[in-house]
Amino acid sequence: MQLYSTANHRTRVSFTEAIQDAFPIDRGLYFPSQIPRCDALFIKEMHNQSMAEIATQLAQLWLSDEIPMDSLEKICHEAFNFPVKEVSVSENRYILELFHGPTLAFKDFGARFMAKTLNWISQNNGNSSAQYSKIRILTATSGDTGGAVANAFQGIPDMEVLILFPLDKLSLLQRRQLTTYGYNIKAIGIKGNFDDCQRLVKEALIDKDIKARTKFCSANSINIGRLIPQSFYYFYGYSRLKQLDLPLVYSVPSGNFGNLTAGIMAKRMGLDIEHFIAATNQNDSIPRFLKTGEFKVSKTFETFATAMDVGNPSNFNRLLELFANNTGNFITDLNFEQENMEQNFDQESMEQNIPDSAMSRKMNQLITGIKVEDGEILKTIKEWHDTSEHCLDPHTAVGLQALKVYEKICKKPFLGIVLGTAHPAKFPALFDQELGIKIPIPIALLDLLESEERFKTMDTDFKELKNYLLEEVL
Ligand SMILES: *Cc1c(COP(=O)(O)O)cnc(C)c1O
Repeated sequence: MQLYSTANHRTRVSFTEAIQDAFPIDRGLYFPSQIPRCDALFIKEMHNQSMAEIATQLAQLWLSDEIPMDSLEKICHEAFNFPVKEVSVSENRYILELFHGPTLAFKDFGARFMAKTLNWISQNNGNSSAQYSKIRILTATSGDTGGAVANAFQGIPDMEVLILFPLDKLSLLQRRQLTTYGYNIKAIGIKGNFDDCQRLVKEALIDKDIKARTKFCSANSINIGRLIPQSFYYFYGYSRLKQLDLPLVYSVPSGNFGNLTAGIMAKRMGLDIEHFIAATNQNDSIPRFLKTGEFKVSKTFETFATAMDVGNPSNFNRLLELFANNTGNFITDLNFEQENMEQNFDQESMEQNIPDSAMSRKMNQLITGIKVEDGEILKTIKEWHDTSEHCLDPHTAVGLQALKVYEKICKKPFLGIVLGTAHPAKFPALFDQELGIKIPIPIALLDLLESEERFKTMDTDFKELKNYLLEEVL
C-alpha cells in the first residue's frame, strides 16, 4: 500500500512507514494512493462471517503487499476479540454498539489494530526507526483515545506511550484509564482543553531538538493505522442489518472526523452506503462548512459529549481529499525529489485542497451535517431511558438525535444505523447529576478505582513539555 501526503502528492511512503510516523514532513496527512475495491461476492457472503473474519479479508486487501496474509489474520483476530452488538431502536432504526472492547469505547478498534500491527513490525525488522531503542508514541486525547491506546500498548516492552490529556475535562474513569497503568504508559495532564493538547503534540512532533533524539509516532486518528480498521465495522454493520430494498444511512457522532472519513473509505471500497450524517455537538465547524461553503475554525465549546469537543477537526483535509477526486485514487508516476521539502513545507502548497462552496456542494450529496445541543443530548438520553430502560452515552445520543432530525429532512424510507461510540458507564457524573440515573460501573472499570494514579501536570506552554521530554524521557 502506497500513501501520499495531502499537502504534496509527490511524497510517497509505504504503510509500515506511515504507521510509524505522525504526519509527513510537509504537515499534510498520509492518504492512500489507491483505495482497493472489494468484490461483490465478499459483500454478499459477509453475513456468515465474524467481525474478525470480515476485518481479516479487508485488511488483506489493503496490506497484503507488506504484511503476510496469516499475520494479518492473527492481528485481526487478536485485535477484534470482543462483541459488536446491534440494538433495535424502532422500525429500521438501529444502534451498532462498538463499545464492548476493553476500554468501553469504539476507539478500541483503531488502537488495538494499530498496537498489534506495530508489534508485528517491530518483531519483523520492518521497523524504520531501528536506530532508536523503541517505538515511541505521542498522542493527545479528548477522553477515549488515551484509554484505548494505553490499554492496547500496556506492557509491550519496546514501545513507550506518552498521552496528553486536558486536565479537568475527563471523567474520573476516563482519567484513570490513562493514569493507572504506569510502566511504558506515561500520562500528562495539560491545564487547557483538547485543542491545546493536540497543538502541543504537533509542536513536539516538528521540534528539531526532539526530532534529533527520537521519532515519535502518533496514535490519534491522523495515524493511518487507526483509520483503516475503523472502516471495517461499517462492513460488519451492513452485513448484519442491511435489507435489500432500503438505502443505508449511517449516523456518525463526530469530533476529529476519523470515524466518518473511515466510513466514506468503506463506501469507496464498494460498500453500498447511501448517505452519512455528520453528527456533532455544539462544535460544528464541519456542519457549518457543509451549509455555508466556508470553513472557519472556531474556539472549542465544552459540551456533555466531551470526546467530540473539537474546534479544528484533524481529519478535515482527508475528507476534502476523498471528494477532490471522486474515487479517492490519485495515480501518477512522478519521479519525485524529496530533498527540498524541508525548506518548502511552510509555503502554501498548490496541491492542498481548498474548502470552498464547490467542495461543500459535492460533499452535501453524501453527507448531511447536523448539530445537536446539550439540551437535546439530555432529552434524547432521558427519552430512550424512559421507553427502553436502556442508557445511552452522550456521544451516541448526538448520533441518535441527529438521525431523528435527518428523518424529517429526508422524507423517504431508509435503514438508519447510529454508531454507538461509548458505554454510558464511562460518564457516571452526567447520569447522576443531570439525569438522576444511577448506572452500575462495569467490572472492567471497577479495578481502575482501586489502582494508584500517576501523572504529571503541565501548562499549555510548549517549553515545559519540551524540557520534560528532553530531560526525562528521551
Ligand atoms: C473519539 C470519539 C468520538 C469522535 O470520533 P472522531 O473519529 O474523532 O470523529 C465520538 N464518540 C466517542 C465516545 C469518542 O471517543
